[in-house]
Amino acid sequence: MNTSRSKELFEKSRRRIPGGVNSPVRAFGSVGRTPLFIDHAKGSRITDVDGNTFLDYVCSWGPGILGHAHPTVIEAVRKACMDGLTYGAPTEKEWKLAELIHEAMGSVEKVRLVSSGTEAVMSAIRVARGYTGRDLILKFKGNYHGHSDGLLVKAGSAALTTAVPDSSGVPASYTQNTLVALYNNPDSVEELMEKYQNQVAAIIVEPVAANMGVVLPEKGFLEFLREITVRYDTLLIFDEVITGFRLGYGGAQEYFHVTPDLTTLGKIVGGGMPMAAYGGRADIMDQVSPVGSVYQAGTLSGNPIATTAGIVTLDILKAHPEYYGELERKTKRLAAAFEERSKKTGEAIWVNQIGSLLSAFFAPGPVRDYDSAANSDTKAYGEYFGRMLEQGIYVAPSQFEAMFVSVAHTDEEIEETCRAICG
Ligand SMILES: *Cc1c(COP(=O)(O)O)cnc(C)c1O
Repeated sequence: MNTSRSKELFEKSRRRIPGGVNSPVRAFGSVGRTPLFIDHAKGSRITDVDGNTFLDYVCSWGPGILGHAHPTVIEAVRKACMDGLTYGAPTEKEWKLAELIHEAMGSVEKVRLVSSGTEAVMSAIRVARGYTGRDLILKFKGNYHGHSDGLLVKAGSAALTTAVPDSSGVPASYTQNTLVALYNNPDSVEELMEKYQNQVAAIIVEPVAANMGVVLPEKGFLEFLREITVRYDTLLIFDEVITGFRLGYGGAQEYFHVTPDLTTLGKIVGGGMPMAAYGGRADIMDQVSPVGSVYQAGTLSGNPIATTAGIVTLDILKAHPEYYGELERKTKRLAAAFEERSKKTGEAIWVNQIGSLLSAFFAPGPVRDYDSAANSDTKAYGEYFGRMLEQGIYVAPSQFEAMFVSVAHTDEEIEETCRAICG
């Protein structure tokens, strides 16, 4: 495979952009390679600057549930652009998207649009603190909630791969209000809540963890979080930046029938544009300025272009409830292929899969938390990554990320991928 143009662009980019990339996992460091520079994408396929085309299972890390360049989305965005890119004044579209989000998730009675998942989580936490008058936040080891200061403690995603436990540049005083419990471990939560009772503003959780690889909540875990937060008058925040509109149209809260107080959304909700959202109970959200005293603002928040992409994407998903069953079926087929490979080669592969999210851990498993995920053989993952790439399949360049399936992936393409996995 000729990748000379990508290599050349990487060298040039490295001179002007730290690591040559604008987000660390894109650097391919954890698979011992240099990144492919992408020229364009359509449906399930992505094409690099050397003209190599790959079946794409990264899907921009989650937004691409409809596949790339969906004609209806592109046409709507093109049309919206003609009316101006941003006004800094309210539009009907913002109301429309807020209604769509509420319709999908009844718990989100009021919602604010922002520009990234990081911003959504940061703002939701500020609201939780403002509402409860408490300072502490409890998060889970291996859950990722964006790169804001207070949450970069034992974060997953790239921070996990690059073995940097925390980030430098974050004063210790900024994270001393963050407690870290263990995912799928109620005792660790119980212990902290008992110790710090009446001080914890919120528990924040990825209802399905997808930033230490995909790790499912064990039976009763989310229900337990709901129960203990009620018991201690603490708010429960579901970070549904990945799971929202992916696990089902109503996200993880619909899938597991557990209702949080606040929800953060991103990725799919922006339809591929920089947009995210946070929302929840009206009495909590009314703490936000200008109604309440919690300040949060944004020049491009709810801008008409991103809002258009979000509305059209949600409209399409809403009109096609059958998509979710199809996604699940295709993703289960991929999971079976990994199991087949493991049987055939004797490699230790543990598969976690739910809906259109999948991780194949090169580990004996079971993978149920950060430590069991971190036990994976990342060298074996790197070899698998290279093998897939050679066969024209682009998967996440890190063991600790999800494989995303889109509705644009055909059954034939899934079978092609299964052969590559097994081969
Ligand atoms: C991606 C992600 C974020 C951060 O979103 P950005 O748009 O990258 O800032 C937060 N939480 C979860 C669960 C995510 O997957």
